[in-house]
Amino acid sequence: MAGRLRLPRPEFQLYHHPNNLSIDNLNKNLALKFPDFVHFANRQINTDLLYYRYSKGKGNNKMKIIYIKSHVRIRRSINLDMDGTIADLYGVKDWLPLLRSENPRPYRMAIPMCDMTALNEVCELLRADGWEINIITWLSKDSSEEYKDAVRKAKRAWLKEQGFHYDHFHGIQYGATKADSVRDRYDFSILVDDNKKVRDGWHIGSTIDPTAENLVEALKEILEKGA
Ligand SMILES: [Mg+2]
Repeated sequence: MAGRLRLPRPEFQLYHHPNNLSIDNLNKNLALKFPDFVHFANRQINTDLLYYRYSKGKGNNKMKIIYIKSHVRIRRSINLDMDGTIADLYGVKDWLPLLRSENPRPYRMAIPMCDMTALNEVCELLRADGWEINIITWLSKDSSEEYKDAVRKAKRAWLKEQGFHYDHFHGIQYGATKADSVRDRYDFSILVDDNKKVRDGWHIGSTIDPTAENLVEALKEILEKGA
């Protein structure tokens, strides 16, 4: 019947049958696969609980309402860029000619762009709250394999020197899509990046512009709100 066809449907066939509504299925990239959850009434996510109700059909044909309230671990991450976000690479004298000559030194010399003690502190609290903290940073443009390695090493050494703990370090090709580094591992991911184009291309969670707001304060807010 036409009316039946017009009913909103879950995006994936997996969910068409209530028997498939297992926590395991729901835990599969929920935020990505259900950006538009209109057919689930009362859907709410907080830190690690998911409530939702599923109904289909009208009148006598109405399918039973199913209500699940369960512990679902929402996998969350905060992903920080380095250059121009936490490390002032562009403030290093002659940084560009040095990079062009494949010198990794500017990456080591960059001064921190925020209070690293405060940043470390809030990141530790976020981690304790279940967030993973990652670095996703582009390597130098047009660099040899050797230089890529040297830059990764220099960036890691810089982070170590700053006492910054992270769960994963992604030193990726200049210009690469940052979301590709993490999209399969999390349900919700926040990006902190000074590059507007990169922030605009991030579709797996919200973004923070560290040039417009105080990074530590923004992270504290996330800690309080849980998202
Ligand atoms: Mg940057």
